[in-house]
Amino acid sequence: MVNSQGPIPRGELVPSGIVGLLGTQGPTSRTDIARALGLSPATVTQVTKDLITRGLVEELQSVPSKGGRPARLLGLVTDAGVAMGAKVTADHVAIVTVELDGTVRSSAAHDYDPGADDAIARLGQILAKEVAELDDRLLGVGVGVPGSVDSQASGIVDAPTLSWQAAPVGPVLRAAIGTPVLVDNDVNTLAAAERLYGIGRDHSAFLVVTIGRGIGCGIVVDGGIYRGANGGAGEIGHIPTEHDGPDQPPCTCGSTGCLEAYIGAAGIIRTARARQVIGPRGDLATLLRAATTGDAAARQVFDQAGAMLGRALAGVIHTIDPEVVVLMGEGVDGWELWQTGFEPSFRRSLLPARRAVPVVVEPWTEDQWARGAASLVLASPFDSTGNGGEQSRLVRARLGAQ
Ligand SMILES: [Zn+2]
Repeated sequence: MVNSQGPIPRGELVPSGIVGLLGTQGPTSRTDIARALGLSPATVTQVTKDLITRGLVEELQSVPSKGGRPARLLGLVTDAGVAMGAKVTADHVAIVTVELDGTVRSSAAHDYDPGADDAIARLGQILAKEVAELDDRLLGVGVGVPGSVDSQASGIVDAPTLSWQAAPVGPVLRAAIGTPVLVDNDVNTLAAAERLYGIGRDHSAFLVVTIGRGIGCGIVVDGGIYRGANGGAGEIGHIPTEHDGPDQPPCTCGSTGCLEAYIGAAGIIRTARARQVIGPRGDLATLLRAATTGDAAARQVFDQAGAMLGRALAGVIHTIDPEVVVLMGEGVDGWELWQTGFEPSFRRSLLPARRAVPVVVEPWTEDQWARGAASLVLASPFDSTGNGGEQSRLVRARLGAQ
């Protein structure tokens, strides 16, 4: 039996693995817990007895079972803990608080200038104020940033779009907040959420591709997020697409001709303005309106963006060989406009054996980035690969399931 949550939990990870499973899958019988986590029935009986005694897990109603006596379901006492998630952008910080089962309990947004001299300290103040309004059930804070992060547990960030270089986000926030803090690339946090609550429950190799301000990719292989040697895996927005040179559009990374420079929000607007499809002050909303009301030139801008994404993504499929691709981000609101260019270009560029790879488009909500960040904390019970290191261990200790 494949355990969709990744490797089978062993030793100290068994109790929190069971808590995590109940949090992500809802009420489950002991038999199904044993099957899902690859544990012996005796281990599950013993560990769940202890979790019930400690008030983390409760016995729920019985459900009829074929032939045997009714199976008792076990459920999580969801108010046993909450996690906070924060997504840092170029102009604001979005924050959510979520229950152990991933339900969003509250959300907030704060104006924020990442380019300020005291930007990291200021982020610490914003989060400390939010944390102070919670009670002591907070398990930890997850932070998503548009850049690369050395490790979730350390949290040193390189993010050109925020003007951050080797920014000590993890250490400063831990000192300011006094709780475990896990930091990762924002698209990786969406992949972490999908791994717990979405497509990752049925697939162990998948891509989360985001379109919007930037173009990003979270890579899940063998049930775990693939981060690369420096936490920089999945930066598909910087795939060199056209020849390098001063006649190509500049990218936020300092290079020219990157995929994102063409089909990130700013690139699409630049193209539309240059072709006079929209005026010099026209924005993405103007262009979307024109395209949805049938303006052929506006539709062509999205069509070409879709085709460019399709060719680039085919290369990523050939490299990673995922079972499925999940498409997310602010840009999916206009996906039907991208799709006319994307589908033929993507399928034609794929090897025949990969041509049928499914692309699932997920509806997008504003709080999804911050919820993804919170799932770094909620994934700690399953952290058998050690991504979260000491910080995940501290989360498990706070959960009382260790
Ligand atoms: Zn670039």
